Amino acid sequence: MKRKKILVTGGAGYIGSHTCVEFINAGYEPIILDNFSNSKEFIPERIQEITGTKPRVIDLDCAAYESLLEAVKAEGNINGIVHFAAFKAVGESTRKPLDYYYNNVASTTSILKLMEALAIDNFVFSSSCTVYGQPDVLPVTEDSPIKAAESPYGRTKQICEDLIQDFYKAKEDLKAVSLRYFNPIGAHPSSLIGELPLGVPNNLVPYITQTAIGLRQNLTIFGDDYDTPDGTCIRDYIHVVDLAKAHVAALSYLEKSNNGLYDIFNLGTGTGNSVLEVVNTFEKIAQMKLNYTIGPRRQGDIVKVFADVSKSKNLLNWETKLSLIDALRDAWNWEKSLKTADIS
Ligand code: UDP
Repeated sequence: MKRKKILVTGGAGYIGSHTCVEFINAGYEPIILDNFSNSKEFIPERIQEITGTKPRVIDLDCAAYESLLEAVKAEGNINGIVHFAAFKAVGESTRKPLDYYYNNVASTTSILKLMEALAIDNFVFSSSCTVYGQPDVLPVTEDSPIKAAESPYGRTKQICEDLIQDFYKAKEDLKAVSLRYFNPIGAHPSSLIGELPLGVPNNLVPYITQTAIGLRQNLTIFGDDYDTPDGTCIRDYIHVVDLAKAHVAALSYLEKSNNGLYDIFNLGTGTGNSVLEVVNTFEKIAQMKLNYTIGPRRQGDIVKVFADVSKSKNLLNWETKLSLIDALRDAWNWEKSLKTADIS
């Protein structure tokens, strides 16, 4: 049987590459659309090493609408688009807001125009739990109020969700979901793909693994005087392989529907872990003491957030299978497998 084609924007990136693997495993043909601005050209070969199939690559910017239209048209019938391509560094977004609005919002507009032009109905969007801000009630359900964004990055995710919803209202045969990720961590258990942070990592787990390997001297824990059991902030850390599988589940949910729809799903484990719990678990797995100190709070940090995952479980028929231990072990193995050539 002919494999259904799925266009995966940002498919060479961290979550995108893991999702391509899961689409291939599920019998689809992912086509990567990536401009390699924050990803490496060897990733499609790594996907081939894992799955036996090398995805086709369209090396273009999502916002380059005319060239994109031509390139995607040439691929023939596309069953759906999974749209990851975006900038994601909160701090950088405050320094370069225009880059964020252009790369995140203009590119989403361009991708939606492409869907209209080529009559592609199924759309899966990468959103973030950042839209909930500092939540009033935990766990966070999809109906929790959207809070004013703390950064241009967060604002671009809110705007894109609204954009997709407005597009759906105008075009009711569209089937679209926004997936709100909690904190994706870990790597593929093969250690062939994983996160490749550019420069000094902003996120906790790559900072931990780089400190453990000696690339960074010391991890600073941003505050231990919060109103939580051990004083450090709490997040819902989800293994990237579980997260990748949720995209296959979401696409299949869209395919099954006879009618247009727009819906939102939380993707997390449903459990919160503190920064200190993550550090202590990592120390057990790597069997080493990590160099860390307690520093001041990071501005704008959310104190405590974790997902209510019942909607994803019930409607997408998906739930996480992997643990924090699995994720930290895979992140550590990935860090140890990296060669200078991979990260330069
Ligand atoms: N964090 C930390 N030191 C670091 C990086 C992160 O203590 O070098 C903490 C951060 O304050 C937060 C948690 O780790 O409480 C997760 O941060 P990350 O940036 O990974 O995710 P986000 O804040 O976007 O949920």
